[in-house]
Amino acid sequence: MRTTRSESTLCKNKTFCRVCGGRRLETVISLGAMPPANAFTKKEKQNVPELLFPLACTFCHACGFVGLLDIVSPELLFGNYVYVSSTSPTFVAHFEEFAGSVSQRFAFPAGSLILDIGSNDGILLRPFKGRGWRVLGVDPATAIAAQANENGITTIPAFFTPGLAHTVRVTSGKAHVISATSVFPHIDDLDSVIAGVKDLLHDNGVFIIEAYYLPDIVEKRLFDTIYHEHLSYFTVKTLATLLARLGMEMFDAEKTDTHGGSLRAFIQKKNGPHTICAAVAQFIANENRARMGDIETFRAFARTIEENKRNLTGLLSDLKRQEKRIAAYGAAAKGNTLLNYFGIGADVISYVVDDSPWKQGLYTPGMKIPVVAAEALESMPPDYLLILAWNFAEPIMRKCSAFRERGGKFIIPVPEPRIA
Ligand SMILES: [Zn+2]
Repeated sequence: MRTTRSESTLCKNKTFCRVCGGRRLETVISLGAMPPANAFTKKEKQNVPELLFPLACTFCHACGFVGLLDIVSPELLFGNYVYVSSTSPTFVAHFEEFAGSVSQRFAFPAGSLILDIGSNDGILLRPFKGRGWRVLGVDPATAIAAQANENGITTIPAFFTPGLAHTVRVTSGKAHVISATSVFPHIDDLDSVIAGVKDLLHDNGVFIIEAYYLPDIVEKRLFDTIYHEHLSYFTVKTLATLLARLGMEMFDAEKTDTHGGSLRAFIQKKNGPHTICAAVAQFIANENRARMGDIETFRAFARTIEENKRNLTGLLSDLKRQEKRIAAYGAAAKGNTLLNYFGIGADVISYVVDDSPWKQGLYTPGMKIPVVAAEALESMPPDYLLILAWNFAEPIMRKCSAFRERGGKFIIPVPEPRIA
């Protein structure tokens, strides 16, 4: 059973807004105490109590920012990160497109430097390197950084700080592009990171971030994107508020379809050379129309999570009563928010299939469901497959065509559970 262990040094509570510094903060979504979503455990550690930390979203009454204020130690969350981006073909294609469009749009001189914050195994940098850029990764997950270095993507195994930015500027010169894709919402002290970016970025340079887009999370009910690593859920408006306070500005914004809908923002130093595109004001107008600054929007969202919980757990209980065998696909972090908050454990889900060898043989955090390779679908065939990595539902269903041909059915849990 789950045990709470209080480790105050491993989790601190922030008392002011990350974006504007305001202190009128109110909890809008509370998911209780949970293990970190990537804290997969080894078999021999099954009897060691897991660390549980509060998981709740707060709303800032001053600027409308939505994010987490319980900050779990980044060393704990990211030091042994097991997520390797290049295991996801969708992300490989995403960053190939990213490198192509950035290279073409800005036409920076050959040999310009791109620094990627949270570079993982070099998935973003590899296509830039192929286009003649100098590339440099920064990632605190030492094992993954070592792997990137072995594969020819120079990677510093550290967190990005103003000190590190200064060292890079002295040794490698200023960067024309600094990117922070899925990592940007992971950062608590954005003031410090943006100070480093400003120091290292060329005056014509571009800082590009990608982050989950709050209006999509609400509209598509993607509550399972909420976990301890994701400290911020931005809108263009809240991101612009943050940047303005720190002497930078967004000059363009667009949507990408990763993670069910992400925001890609193009940022420069304040009064930089890039013209501010109409898209920025258009995004903000749409956000106002979707009432992103109204706390009631998020209270209503919290109610839809409860509805999803009732419906999915009801469906799974019915299937178990009919003695159906159920497994899951995709030991994604988001799946662990869903399993833990909905209380779906190993008594319901026999195993979770995942294609990453880094996760196979481990157990999911909290619910302790074994993670296995896809061969299990042959050796221990289930009747139903719950797709936890629902953002990859289509490729997963294609991949598991043999399972479907034998009469197997898929359950897609979000926004409303449905059988496919
Ligand atoms: Zn605020």
